[in-house]
Amino acid sequence: MSKEITVLDRGFVRLIDHLGSDLRVVEAARVSYRSPSKGEEQDKKLLFYLFKNMHSSPFEQCSLTFNIKLPLFVQAQLVRHRMARLNQVSARYTKMHDDFYFPAIWRKQDDKNKQASKGEFSAIENSQFTHFLKEECSEAYRHYEYLVEQGVSREMARMILPQNLYTEIYWNIDLNNLFKFLNLRLDAHAQQEIREYAEAIYLLAKEVFPWSFEAFDKFKFQIVEREHSHG
Ligand SMILES: Cc1cc2nc3c(=O)[nH]c(=O)nc-3n(C[C@H](O)[C@H](O)[C@H](O)COP(=O)(O)OP(=O)(O)OC[C@H]3O[C@@H](n4cnc5c(N)ncnc54)[C@H](O)[C@@H]3O)c2cc1C
Repeated sequence: MSKEITVLDRGFVRLIDHLGSDLRVVEAARVSYRSPSKGEEQDKKLLFYLFKNMHSSPFEQCSLTFNIKLPLFVQAQLVRHRMARLNQVSARYTKMHDDFYFPAIWRKQDDKNKQASKGEFSAIENSQFTHFLKEECSEAYRHYEYLVEQGVSREMARMILPQNLYTEIYWNIDLNNLFKFLNLRLDAHAQQEIREYAEAIYLLAKEVFPWSFEAFDKFKFQIVEREHSHG
């Protein structure tokens, strides 16, 4: 059974499997000068050297596949990372479920950074906004079901569904490009929702590539590990 981390209210990240290991990175680098492993200490030292000096191609010899359930608007950000390979559930082939993301907290518009959010609303405002969103989603889904029942194609009926609808993907990425992704999406400038996915991906990947992530933490930045529920 693959490990799963719950993200947002009903999303998840699951590590399906991975190819290679920290040692594969070292072995791939050593093929350059046909030298065998020199023991754990030397191997780890080499991996750190590679990371620090951006000899990134040996990290591309390793890859990871994740199963991710995420809202459409987060997925739109994720697909920008072109070096990953992705398959998504088809809204043409299958009927979409009544499954939407409802944020626990509504964030205010940041008054300086036009792309960011900052600060919270009162509890009353917060629950009012959630109520609005729930009303809209339930109305949209009711209309979606009606269109499908009337014989409208699923590929067209889906236009009525909002961006917070959950979708599911298989996402495969090599270790080098995963670091590039994490660098951008763990950053405080990334939208909070995708940051939470990046944190879950980080935690799962770190378990299978411990040296590489030690190097990532050391040479890039430290992240605060949030509490995630493990299933
Ligand atoms: C905080 C934040 C805000 C953003 N805001 C916006 C926005 O307002 N509008 C918007 O459109 N996007 C926005 N983006 C998306 C951003 O522009 C990038 O598309 C996204 O972060 C993917 O980055 P990337 O191209 O490095 O990743 P990848 O596509 O995974 O590329 C990884 C590496 O491969 C290289 N690479 C990939 N494809 C090619 C290629 N065809 N040829 C040569 N080299 C290639 C890249 O240069 C990169 O070094 C935002 C991203 C972040 C993190």
